[in-house]
Amino acid sequence: MTYKLLLLPGDGIGPEVMAETERVIHWMAKHRDLKFSIERALVGGSALEAEGVPVTEETMALAHAADAVLFGAVGGPQWDNNPFEKKPERGLLRLRKELELFANLRPAICFDALKDASTLRADVVSGLDILIIRELTGGVYFGEPRGIMEMNDGTRRAIDTQVYTTGEIQRISRVAFSLARLRSNRVASAEKSNVMHAEFPDVELTHILADNCAMQLVRRPKQFDVIVTDNLFGDVLSDEAAQCTGSIGMLPSASLGAKDEKTGRQPGLYEPVHGSAPDIAGQGLANPLACVLSFAMCLRYSFNKPDDAKLIERAVERVLDEGLRTGDIMQPGKKQVGTTGMGDAIIAALDRLDLGVAQ
Ligand code: NAD
Repeated sequence: MTYKLLLLPGDGIGPEVMAETERVIHWMAKHRDLKFSIERALVGGSALEAEGVPVTEETMALAHAADAVLFGAVGGPQWDNNPFEKKPERGLLRLRKELELFANLRPAICFDALKDASTLRADVVSGLDILIIRELTGGVYFGEPRGIMEMNDGTRRAIDTQVYTTGEIQRISRVAFSLARLRSNRVASAEKSNVMHAEFPDVELTHILADNCAMQLVRRPKQFDVIVTDNLFGDVLSDEAAQCTGSIGMLPSASLGAKDEKTGRQPGLYEPVHGSAPDIAGQGLANPLACVLSFAMCLRYSFNKPDDAKLIERAVERVLDEGLRTGDIMQPGKKQVGTTGMGDAIIAALDRLDLGVAQ
């Protein structure tokens, strides 16, 4: 089987981190039982400059046809004052909307070598590996009625509506329970819905109020395996969990759509959590590991290749254990490298792991 990948590097450091990820993709194609056909297109500000819109119809067609989309980052100060429709992030929002990517997967993994980079105590975060699943297309960000009204007394009244249908809750819960089966079989729901439990009797379900969940994430984060939650709480909790791990340059994410039961196809978009980092763009300083780890997620969730995903994650772990660091995760006594240097080290680590030289 040949997997169709669409690469959308975007703006700022997006193309820099994507270039290193592409090296990993080529390495996997050469050394593992994997075949890819790769398309590339512009998105965000770079698409605005060259094509007049943040994402073209042609690019949308490529995204629909792809088995998975790998996305870099979009945005930059030069487009900050653009009208709403001409903002770089409209490209990403359109992709999310039209591919119906309702499930946002945000792992928070603390690599042992980086446990001191967290603002939390090393013993609290060491070995941390949790997955937050945030509903992405419903809830208060989309609910109606919404808006600001003028009142008779001259003051204003703002309304946002938190709304979910049974179907929306069922499909995000189904994603959470299915993924828990690939992990430690535990789901904590930061909502009060238990509609799915009958379908997944093997998965332990607990309920936790979102405010308590926020507290527990900094108190004892390792108690969690999969956390499933709505769009608004997910926005907050996933960033909080991310912070537990130390650096934004290390964090991958995935957004998945509904699986077509007939064809088995499921849209998936994979992207680093970080933005386009205009402050360091073009300088070869960006940490490519979040993007590389996003590709590992793609192998695991879109292509069902957990061993290949694990290989990339082990290569990242190796490189960190060997003391290599980009500027964002630099620590005293470690060796600082740039974007390409980190890419070189990942390829070298993959070579060694492939030859069985390293464990
Ligand atoms: P950012 O994530 O781009 O940068 C925040 C800080 O983290 C910066 O100091 C940056 O240098 C650093 N950083 C981020 N990624 C890094 C990496 N891989 N390696 C080393 N350092 C890294 O967030 P921001 O500064 O708030 O936003 C910059 C632009 O990115 C804005 O235009 C924003 O709209 C956009 N943005 C895009 C996305 C996306 O494409 N999904 C997400 C967030 C922000």
